Amino acid sequence: MSLYQHFHLHLIRTIVTVFFVWSRFMNRRASANCRYQPTCYEHAANCYTHALLIMPAFVGMALLYRLSDNRWERITAWVYGMGLCALFLVSTVFHIITWKKSHMRSVEHCFHMCDRVVIYFFIAASYTPWLNLRELGPLAAHMRWFVWLMAAAGTIYVFNYHEKYKLVELAFYLMMGFFPASVVTSMSNTEGLHELAYGGLIYCLGVFFFKSDGIIPFAHAIWHVFVALAAAVHYYAIWKYLYKAPSADTLLEL
Ligand SMILES: [Zn+2]
Repeated sequence: MSLYQHFHLHLIRTIVTVFFVWSRFMNRRASANCRYQPTCYEHAANCYTHALLIMPAFVGMALLYRLSDNRWERITAWVYGMGLCALFLVSTVFHIITWKKSHMRSVEHCFHMCDRVVIYFFIAASYTPWLNLRELGPLAAHMRWFVWLMAAAGTIYVFNYHEKYKLVELAFYLMMGFFPASVVTSMSNTEGLHELAYGGLIYCLGVFFFKSDGIIPFAHAIWHVFVALAAAVHYYAIWKYLYKAPSADTLLEL
């Protein structure tokens, strides 16, 4: 056998092996109005990737609470922390139900809606520390309540058009994710905004995997990892620039 034939055979074997491995870990892409059915490996990965973050989210919330110097910081730590915990908790419960209790159609449907709704509230909660603890211009300060109005509007949308227009839903998430960032133009203190942008970029890169079910094995679990990484970057920035640094009140006491 010539070197070329040997190489050719090796290449075909590799392609067959890769195809076999992929088809074992991933199902076919779903048709337009159906949901993708993950393999049991993918189900497990979807559950574990967010379940493992429930405890760290609670610890993270407690840490910010302890670092708070006043009531406003404590309320903010609580709101942000609850958003963080709720995201990982609801996502985990939803994925467990889709995996183990998919025959309970209405329960699964309900948790699928909760999984989508919690994302809107999570985005609002993630912006809360920046909106509450940074000095903003008079117009930008209105974003403090407007983010929650957007989250409520998203919730109404989910209850009326759940899974009907997937691209519209994605556009809403991106709008909710980016629009509140416009307040940075009125911030005099810009510390931590790089981290805020990096986190946003990681979420956006993750969306590529969110849309790749049935094309890339474990696409949804990879999306979960991107969410976890982005949330960690944002947490780090909030901890470092909004809580760890002594507040103006503390400086006055010294
Ligand atoms: Zn998920």
